[in-house]
Amino acid sequence: MDVMSSNHHTHPGPLTVGVLALQGDFREHREVLETMGHHVREIRKPEQLAEIDALIIPGGESTTIARLILSNGFQQPLREFCATGKPVWGTCAGAILLAKDVDNLDRPGIEVMDITVHRNAFGRQVDSFEADLDVRGIEDGPFRAVFIRAPLIREVRAPAEAICRLEDGTIVAAREGNLLATSFHPELTGDHRLHALFLTLGRTRAEATP
Ligand code: GLN
Repeated sequence: MDVMSSNHHTHPGPLTVGVLALQGDFREHREVLETMGHHVREIRKPEQLAEIDALIIPGGESTTIARLILSNGFQQPLREFCATGKPVWGTCAGAILLAKDVDNLDRPGIEVMDITVHRNAFGRQVDSFEADLDVRGIEDGPFRAVFIRAPLIREVRAPAEAICRLEDGTIVAAREGNLLATSFHPELTGDHRLHALFLTLGRTRAEATP
């Protein structure tokens, strides 16, 4: 274990968090993380992954981000980063990119989570909507979630687990070890609880928990 990671569980304070900045709403995540007191790196080159403790893959257009992942040589480095046990979170398009199975994506994403995701699942009339959700691991009341042309998580296979559902049972968040996928956009509502939960998902901290 290196000095940085042994610091994590003794001092939970400022981490260096990367936000994949190829396309999408990476700036909004940056603002949340900086408000929380963390350092942020906008990740545009694979070698920058070596500098960070955790990574967020933002919402945007998953076909565009997938294309840029491939053309910038990110696919394998991102898979390797996911395998380090450091926290990785895909929001909306980011969740699509983490899934091993996606309906209707014209090229491969990162393909590391045992979930099946259905893109643009909510149809025209409900293109965008908000809902108050219970998320496993989040306390002190429901989490206000904003969905924008959101995917739904059609299937979750062990060791992945569903951690949040809409009232009708539709899965909108899943976790698999250090990996987190949400259909919605927690960076848009000023509620930082999910960002805080995400930063506890690393293997180092999980091992430290009895
Ligand atoms: N509809 C987009 C896609 O399929 C995702 C939308 C979003 O990230 N808000 O990539």
